[in-house]
Amino acid sequence: MTEEQDHGRTPATQGSRIDAYVDRYAARATGMVASEIRALFAVASRPEVVSLAGGMPYVTALPLDMVGELVSDLVTRRGPVALQYGSGQGDPHLREQICEVMRLEGIEAGADDVVVTVGSQQALDLITRIFIDPGDVVLAEGPSYVGALGTFAAYQARVVHIAMDDQGIIPESLAQTIHALQVTGTRIKFLYTIPTYHNPGGVTMNVARRQQVLDICHRAGILIVEDNPYGLLGFDGEPLRALRADNSDGVVYLGSFSKTLAPGFRVGWALAPHAIRDKLVLAMESAVLSHSSFTQLAVGQYLATQPWREQIKTFRELYRERRDALLDALEALMPPGVTWTKPAGGFFVWATLPEGLDSKALLPRAVAERVAFVPGTGFFSDGSGSRQMRLSFCYPQPDRIREGVRRLAGVIEQELRLRDTFGTGTAPTHTGVDTPGPDLA
Ligand code: PMP
Repeated sequence: MTEEQDHGRTPATQGSRIDAYVDRYAARATGMVASEIRALFAVASRPEVVSLAGGMPYVTALPLDMVGELVSDLVTRRGPVALQYGSGQGDPHLREQICEVMRLEGIEAGADDVVVTVGSQQALDLITRIFIDPGDVVLAEGPSYVGALGTFAAYQARVVHIAMDDQGIIPESLAQTIHALQVTGTRIKFLYTIPTYHNPGGVTMNVARRQQVLDICHRAGILIVEDNPYGLLGFDGEPLRALRADNSDGVVYLGSFSKTLAPGFRVGWALAPHAIRDKLVLAMESAVLSHSSFTQLAVGQYLATQPWREQIKTFRELYRERRDALLDALEALMPPGVTWTKPAGGFFVWATLPEGLDSKALLPRAVAERVAFVPGTGFFSDGSGSRQMRLSFCYPQPDRIREGVRRLAGVIEQELRLRDTFGTGTAPTHTGVDTPGPDLA
């Protein structure tokens, strides 16, 4: 029996596969689309390609022997707890420890307001699940984190982008957009922002703007969702004060151990006002019953017994060296007309190509020259970003970064020659929101 006969319906093709269920999916599943650049990234993960695309933390810098001993010790000593179901809110002791971590960014909070989640990605999913009806508006910086845009699309939110410059969200733009939407009766559910070491923008909201953004949202009655996985990975000075540090009622704060320890544990969290916290716990239970006790206790054990602040310092120094390698190489090698941000922390640089060039069209040529980046359109929900690209410096060694930039500069120069000869570079190809998958997040 063929698949078609089996399900008694006309199959539709999706890529090369036949999908017999195409007319049965919920409407929200139409927002879940794989990026057409995924196939290219399968090639880009080959060792000869320098990938400036992925956002993978450099976990090799962890003392892996220590992690091994810690995990083994955990099973031996606390196996019956570590291997059992846990609570929907998360391990109480870990939640206390999370409060200690957040104190580094000026946040004073009680463990009772923390919900442990499967990475901050799940916190994003739960927040969206409890707030968004189809068509509701979410405000987000333009560009914004691709994984958040994918979540918003999955719940059929309408994303309205707020302009950003090298100092973060432009407050006037935020106020004007809110006003324009509210006078038409549009429901804005929350502002999603990554104020510190933005992914993909590589910029940080300055101190004055933080207060302005808090004030604007407070006046307009708009909740802020502050996503802060990179906050402790600044390259100069002390960590910045989180938005949540100055407003405990109007901000839901999302944190993660993915970048300060390792993403494989999948431990993140949300810190939320009481009522929202209650809903998050219920949503968490309906999603997964409880987070893995095993990885929560492992992270708790790590924080209790290891010099975690020193480890974060090691990561910061490593990423700073890679950031410098990327910025120096861009300065030395990029043709005139290419511009880029200068991140003070985090993993990413956001580059802009000269007029007439399209980053998605450039990608296959770049991959053929053994260098990869993420095209800018995936970071917008409105088709913007065709001249932009995200370059990450977290994973490759500094000399590989320099080599990657040399190859990329060569491709861009070639493209510029085409543009100057024929009037335009390779044709633009935007097709909507991309979800390039976890390796590129
Ligand atoms: N938010 C942002 C801005 C990110 O860059 C990422 C991962 N790249 C996440 C959330 C999700 O991270 P995790 O689920 O691993 O905590």
